[in-house]
Amino acid sequence: MSTPAPTLDAPLVDLYSQQAWHLGFAPDIEARYEADTGLQRSRDLQLAGLVALCVYDLFLFNDWLIRPEVLGVALFWRLGVVSVFGLLMLALIRRGLPPRWREAAMGCTIVVAMWGSSMIFRATASDVGVYDPFMFSLVFLAGNIVFQLRFVVALSSSAAALMVAAVHVLSPGAMPDTAKPFALALLLATLIFTVLACYRLERSERRAYLLILRETNRSQAALQTAGQMTTLSLTDALTQLANRRAFDLELPKRHDEALRTGQPLAMLLIDIDHFKRFNDHYGHPAGDACLRRVADVMRDALRERDFIARIGGEEFAVLLSPANAATAGQLAERLLRQVEQAAMPHEGLPGQQVVTISLGLAVSTPPRTVEPASLMAAADAALYDAKRHGRNRWVMAPSASPDVD
Ligand code: GH3
Ligand code: MG
Ligand code: MG
Repeated sequence: MSTPAPTLDAPLVDLYSQQAWHLGFAPDIEARYEADTGLQRSRDLQLAGLVALCVYDLFLFNDWLIRPEVLGVALFWRLGVVSVFGLLMLALIRRGLPPRWREAAMGCTIVVAMWGSSMIFRATASDVGVYDPFMFSLVFLAGNIVFQLRFVVALSSSAAALMVAAVHVLSPGAMPDTAKPFALALLLATLIFTVLACYRLERSERRAYLLILRETNRSQAALQTAGQMTTLSLTDALTQLANRRAFDLELPKRHDEALRTGQPLAMLLIDIDHFKRFNDHYGHPAGDACLRRVADVMRDALRERDFIARIGGEEFAVLLSPANAATAGQLAERLLRQVEQAAMPHEGLPGQQVVTISLGLAVSTPPRTVEPASLMAAADAALYDAKRHGRNRWVMAPSASPDVD
């Protein structure tokens, strides 16, 4: 369904219920209504049309039984005119007509059917013809109840059909004068009842559609909000990297994947060097800006499939999978250099000129895999070593070394 969802809320549904007799929606919702229901409506009309034509032609049996002298006329009108016209309209609907034309085609079939019945009535010389106009009300039942024509079409096609019938009923000698008012009164009453039924059916169908549309829109909005909340709950507000919660969810997933695929999983723990001094020297807001910049530089330096999160104040973690110790070392070196080359001034203490980071690495290589908690502890110990040995460097956890391939 390509039509964009119109904005629809409770007041609009209520408004529809309150509006006077007018049935149509606002243009955008009308287009959506047609897009959602048009195909089914065409199918329903085709089926109803076929059934109605069959019933109409079944009356040939009646004609043959009670007025064989006009069987030829009946055959001509029922099969040659009404059925051909009706089938033509159904074929056009099947090929796809715009909604108004689709409804109009069915409405025309009703008028043509009334015309055909009237012509058979006029051709009947025997007394049985007097019953015909009382049967014409079946045409209104077909159009307004079986086809459930849209109200406006139902009203206009029924009015036109009534006029056709009235012309023939009222013509001199068509039937006894005393029977004419009864016949016309019956036709008029059937018209009013069935058109009224059409109106009510269409109104409740349209209202039900609005309610469904409103609920669909509401559930879509709720899903969207839930998605946004999930994203928010897994994102670090300062750097827009994944946060600690996201990292804790991702680590077991990557661990399981490594077990399944037999590929190594590497973890990098990263800590900004002398960051407390940075804050002391430049202030907390500048510290925040520095955290964002370091995060950006590292994100850009990593591969698409690598996962980076801010797991603490000035601490980050990266999961590389698949990555053996050699690849992890290369990426650690790249991160180290790119942060240094970003040349963020750090004059918070003597000897330090730019912002730098230290990294601790650990690798888990199947089949000798390391549990997530142990992998983290190993990386943390390596990070501690990197700090102890002078910072601005990376250290591989000893347990990872034998896995170098
Ligand atoms: P080391 O090289 O040993 O890691 O020294 P350090 O100063 O970086 O480490 P320490 O743990 O002593 O200080 C970390 C500092 O990071 C302390 C805290 O003020 C700062 N920090 C933590 N979170 C934030 C933050 O969100 N914004 C800012 N501006 N600073 C933060
Ligand atoms: Mg720290
Ligand atoms: Mg630090």
